[in-house]
Amino acid sequence: VFDNQVIEEVLKGNAGTQLVTNSKGVEMLAGYAPMTVAPWGVVTQRPLESTLAPLDNLMWQVFVKTAPIGVLTFILIWVLARLIAQPLRQLAETANTLDRPSTSLELTQIRSWYFESNELRKAMLKGVGLLQSKIGLLRQEAQTDPLTCLHNRRSLDMQISHLIAQRCPFAVLAIDIDHFKRVNDEFGHDIGDVVLQSLAKILLDVTRDSDVVARTGGEEFIVIMPRVEAKRAYQLAERLRMRVSESYIDPVGCINVSIGISGWPIEQLSIDEVFKLADQALYQAKKTGRNRSVVDATYSQDLTPVSEPSILE
Ligand code: GH3
Ligand code: MG
Ligand code: MG
Repeated sequence: VFDNQVIEEVLKGNAGTQLVTNSKGVEMLAGYAPMTVAPWGVVTQRPLESTLAPLDNLMWQVFVKTAPIGVLTFILIWVLARLIAQPLRQLAETANTLDRPSTSLELTQIRSWYFESNELRKAMLKGVGLLQSKIGLLRQEAQTDPLTCLHNRRSLDMQISHLIAQRCPFAVLAIDIDHFKRVNDEFGHDIGDVVLQSLAKILLDVTRDSDVVARTGGEEFIVIMPRVEAKRAYQLAERLRMRVSESYIDPVGCINVSIGISGWPIEQLSIDEVFKLADQALYQAKKTGRNRSVVDATYSQDLTPVSEPSILE
């Protein structure tokens, strides 16, 4: 036999095993060892395929027997993974909408059945509580006049938008303190502030809960009275004016206010024009001696039905 690696190896005095291809191109597994007592060696070989045939069969049997357990284990892992992931997924979804008022309730409804997710949920609940109280505080601050705690201009505009959207008619009272500069000059700015706060209290006291009382400028106030028509608005304004002039504010004494009255809807006027009419009526009140209420003439004569307002701003 020539050109046979195994025989060459064994003749060199080496022993071992090797995968060889015989002269017919068949893959064989060979084992070889030299003899120590004579100059020859022993080589045994067997076709690879027939050697491995029992192994293939064994592997197939192992596969068939372990496959059901494998599938079962896979299903178990899948179910467990889902169970573990579910509260985390719900927490993540809720985290996207932390600013919603219903978030706290949604968080308490999540079944965090294992320690870590429960701790996460508790931390989120705490965070949401803090966030929402901060949002509430900021919202209130953004809508409140800091000196008097009345509605500010922004909040007033929002309230008016609601009323207009609901087609709810309302009276507008523009109130301005008479000779307020004198109060500041005589008693100082801080006492002036006290007067503004006292007036705010009186306005809140005299008006209904459904009325909107706002401070829109230095010593200028707006009262919105829903479902009040011109005649009634004048009566209420006068009651308010008299109540102010009768109230003693320490140490200033009694102050007076002038009031201009207008309302929505009037003909085809926009809400800005309605406010302008209230200002004009206030100017009239100032011009004709102060400490009085004046109803805008268009408003007092207007009979525009509420169901057909064209002013929507
Ligand atoms: P009139 O009867 O014509 O309204 O006279 P008035 O003195 O009230 O006139 P005017 O509206 O011109 O003056 C308002 C004054 O209000 C001027 C300003 O010093 C004062 N003022 C504006 N804002 C504040 C505030 O926040 N605090 C205090 N104390 N005073 C203010
Ligand atoms: Mg003024
Ligand atoms: Mg004034």
